[in-house]
Amino acid sequence: MTKVLPRSVERLSQLLASLPSIGPKTANRLTFYLLGRDKSELREFGEALSSLKDNLLICQRCFIITEEDPCPICRDEGREQSRIAVVEEPLDVIALERARYNGLYHVLGGQISPLNNVSPEDLRIKELIQRLSQEHVEELILATDPSLEGEATALFIQERIEENQREGKIPTTLQISRLARGLPVGGDLEYADELTIGRALEGRQIIRQNDKNGSK
Ligand SMILES: [Zn+2]
Repeated sequence: MTKVLPRSVERLSQLLASLPSIGPKTANRLTFYLLGRDKSELREFGEALSSLKDNLLICQRCFIITEEDPCPICRDEGREQSRIAVVEEPLDVIALERARYNGLYHVLGGQISPLNNVSPEDLRIKELIQRLSQEHVEELILATDPSLEGEATALFIQERIEENQREGKIPTTLQISRLARGLPVGGDLEYADELTIGRALEGRQIIRQNDKNGSK
């Protein structure tokens, strides 16, 4: 078969196709789209790519990717210092920031997953326990994914904390919460799966007490 595409075009296309959720067709489309852009823009792309990992550090307190350690979030005294959200990945931090969360973070680096060979020791759970024994934390929000692995990870952390509380290493005043699970905003009840509806039922909130329980 005759090679139709120039080698440079083919090479870029293959590299793009190695990225997650990009198939060969999309890779070709992106490559041809880039061919239509100015040289200066492409150079900017290339520079951003090649310097992506320059000067990057990991914050030794919360384990976010940063240019300075401690990171800007840990250094920001305007944030609620006594609240920590435990997340799996740095991208989760961006999601919570968008929702105007104003506490601190602890990035685990993944979720416990025997299928993918990720055990608790591979995550920064030990570091979290140490933080909780050293810092004054009032509330820990377990913001792991609402998946089986995410749930298992949250449960594991909760048990580790309780163990350390029994041993007197972490104050028993620490409150542990979990993000509410339920129906997506703008969704349709009719189309939600039974697991989601089940969780939404479990996590329902009373919006009006009946008179028997009400204060008189
Ligand atoms: Zn930090």
